[in-house]
Amino acid sequence: MPSPAATLSIVATPIGNLDDLSPRARDVLAVADVIAAEDTRHSRRLTSHLGIATPLISLHEHNEGARIEQILERLAAGERVALISDAGTPLISDPGYALVAAVRAAGHAVVAVPGPCAAIAALSVAGLPTDRFVFEGFLPSKPGARRARLDALLDEPRTLVCYESSHRIAATAADLAERFGERRMVLARELTKLHEQSVALAAAELPAWLAADDNRRRGEFVLVVAGAPERERSAQEISLDALLAELVPLAGTKKAATIAARLTGTARNAAYQRALELVG
Ligand code: SAM
Repeated sequence: MPSPAATLSIVATPIGNLDDLSPRARDVLAVADVIAAEDTRHSRRLTSHLGIATPLISLHEHNEGARIEQILERLAAGERVALISDAGTPLISDPGYALVAAVRAAGHAVVAVPGPCAAIAALSVAGLPTDRFVFEGFLPSKPGARRARLDALLDEPRTLVCYESSHRIAATAADLAERFGERRMVLARELTKLHEQSVALAAAELPAWLAADDNRRRGEFVLVVAGAPERERSAQEISLDALLAELVPLAGTKKAATIAARLTGTARNAAYQRALELVG
């Protein structure tokens, strides 16, 4: 069903394979009064391919502020507006956050038309834990800031996901190898495209893998790194029981279990069960 009037639709588009555009995404783009796109020339290729004549306006990081007012006026007039980015899901390392916040604040509806996202596609094939993960987007481009960010993530128990471009993949690989060593990871490149490749290896092996073939450093990359093993965190671990004993009287079993689970890295259900046992 196409989106109703006075609605902003956040429409995911393919990350490579055009067949990944959903029929619903096509319908929403076709009936929209206007499509806001990161790069109108790039997105016109998609709309032409789909046979869609909806006008396109640009919305990128340099004009998002100015465009917001125009889009709010259009929504106030009852128009259907769609937001797309160059590839994948808008707002995920792409523009749109300020627009969505403003549209919500103005009281208009925002609906998701979900679809491709490189981070989720990479996670789905990585074979690393997906029950909890941290999306870091693009790591800082400056070497010092990038290394500091990676240092801060060393003890992170959740699976780490980040984006990288061909310009920086070798430098980032060297930093990952130095810090994460034998930690398991997956590099996924050119997902859904002709030269799609995903390789599972230890972080320490990544620089040599990339250096072995120039083609391996081409295209677009998602890096997925296993979280820190439990034993790396154990020194800092706070006893679950001790925390629950303090928190349950103050916050009740549910809230106490949520906080204690987060602080100790315990599964929330397990912390809740333990809280029930302690109060019972
Ligand atoms: N919004 C997009 C999404 O939903 O995935 C991401 C946009 S971000 C500006 C572009 C980055 O996403 C690329 O540099 C790369 O790290 C990753 N990416 C996009 N398409 C990809 C693909 N087909 N294969 C691997 N990574 C991809």
